Amino acid sequence: MPIQILATEVVSKIAAGEVVERPASVVKELIENSLDAGATQIAIEAQGGGVELVKVSDNGAGIPASEVELAFHRYATSKIGNLDDLEKISSLGFRGEALPSIAAVAEVEILTQTSSETVGSYLYLRKGEVVRKESQARPRGTTVTVRRLFRYFPARLKFLKSATTENSHIAHLASQYALAFPEVQFSLALDKRPSLHTTGNGDLRDVMSTIYGSELAQRMLSAEREDALAKISGLTSPPSLARSNRNYLSFFVNRRWVHSGLLSRATEEAYHGLLMDGQHPIAVISISLPAQELDVNIHPAKAQIKFCHEQSIFGGVQKAIEEALVRTPIASSKPVPFSISFGQWQSPRMITDNEPVFAVSQLPTLELPVLRVLGQLANTYIIAEGPDGLYLMDQHAAHERILYDRILTQWAQKEVEVQGLLQPLTIELSPREKETMEAGKESLAEFGFSIEPFGDRSYLIRAIPALGAGANVIEMISALLDSLANRESLIPWEEKIAESLACHGAIRAGQQLKSEEMRELIKQLEQTKQPRACPHGRPTMIHLSAHQLDKEFGRIG
Ligand code: ADP
Ligand code: MG
Repeated sequence: MPIQILATEVVSKIAAGEVVERPASVVKELIENSLDAGATQIAIEAQGGGVELVKVSDNGAGIPASEVELAFHRYATSKIGNLDDLEKISSLGFRGEALPSIAAVAEVEILTQTSSETVGSYLYLRKGEVVRKESQARPRGTTVTVRRLFRYFPARLKFLKSATTENSHIAHLASQYALAFPEVQFSLALDKRPSLHTTGNGDLRDVMSTIYGSELAQRMLSAEREDALAKISGLTSPPSLARSNRNYLSFFVNRRWVHSGLLSRATEEAYHGLLMDGQHPIAVISISLPAQELDVNIHPAKAQIKFCHEQSIFGGVQKAIEEALVRTPIASSKPVPFSISFGQWQSPRMITDNEPVFAVSQLPTLELPVLRVLGQLANTYIIAEGPDGLYLMDQHAAHERILYDRILTQWAQKEVEVQGLLQPLTIELSPREKETMEAGKESLAEFGFSIEPFGDRSYLIRAIPALGAGANVIEMISALLDSLANRESLIPWEEKIAESLACHGAIRAGQQLKSEEMRELIKQLEQTKQPRACPHGRPTMIHLSAHQLDKEFGRIG
């Protein structure tokens, strides 16, 4: 339908509001417009974190000359006409707000041509007003260029994060749309560096491979399921491929990229018991269902949706993923079966035999009393006895604490031990990870990483910190980049790095330990600053005092 201004009764029903929060919001709105116009090729460029320049070109339907100016009017849209249309939105945009909102806070150029025109239209707008208007030819499609975003809004500019952060938002966003539309060819250049290029061949696995690397993409499992309500399809990770945060969960509902707690929970529910605490799956899940089953009109950025039948959708997604997990037999990282293996009874390390073992003593809260190892439980916990009762220690958390302290000490003293790799490893990064890597390279070097660029989004790892030597280096680096990318967290970067290194370098739950190893672990834990908590703040140990034991057994009242 032609572009027209929505009637007030329709406007009053749409969740209107500010759409231009940051440069990535501009990119989002422009990509959505290109997709709505049926483009099969979309080229995105950004410079200076998107503040200097954002440019999105497509080969979509274009806008007829007679309607171009109208497109910049508030509530002018070609996508819905009346209240009924609002009930069954099938396009990504529908509020007619993006172009005018962007033009109000930046300088905007548009060049567009439809297939029936021999010449296209060019408009130049400043502060929302058309200042130049020309005819110019181009192939069918539309190019929108946005310059000097927020220039006249210093307060907003101040609110923006560094260009690197804004770039990484843009990279993430473009990656998500590429995953949602595998049949569309996307390219992204950030500060003139190519950052992403998908082929548009329609294969989701190929897009995943471009974004997350081919090794990861190959290991992903296909999930498919269709019931009366919805069709669910996508790729989901085997349990052995977990990540330390939820950034790798992507959901698309009727091809709209959405943030949905419901869908995240449904996905994670399917992995219940398969992943360790704090681990999350990687999944790209598309859901398609009748437009009437969905309300997309509840949030100005259109990133949130509401399902009419939430429970069925939850169940459907969970089942689709469970079926994918069951179909593929995998050496899973399921928690080890519960078994108690008592090592030999240890002779006390420092307690002399005539010292009462269960003496009730007031212990300073942080320091650890002298402990005697009794055995290992479920290959995960160390059982020890101290002057005041029983101690159950989480071997992973305890080792994490030890490594964390050592890593930070070595770093502070500039005496980081480095471990060279015999064979350099290649790591393929997603566009977003690459932005973080570029920003964090020097910090990583201070901790003993030697990483050099090796092609587009690949890097060669030549050396790593010696204390992380036992770890899966690739997974360790991805987790590190994830944690560094999270700018909301107030933890200083050196602590983030130490935390990630410690977590990956530490012995795992499920690993059988020899008595000497357990004793050594406790000895080293005693020397740390905070032996009772791991760097994430989880306890390293549980203490059952002699008094509590006596009480539980009814020895005392
Ligand atoms: P909405 O997408 O909600 O309709 P916008 O302000 O984003 O509102 O766009 C206004 C109108 O301009 C759209 O309805 C569409 O008709 C037209 N338009 C915008 N971008 C493009 C594009 N890349 N290709 C074709 N038409 C476009
Ligand atoms: Mg739009």
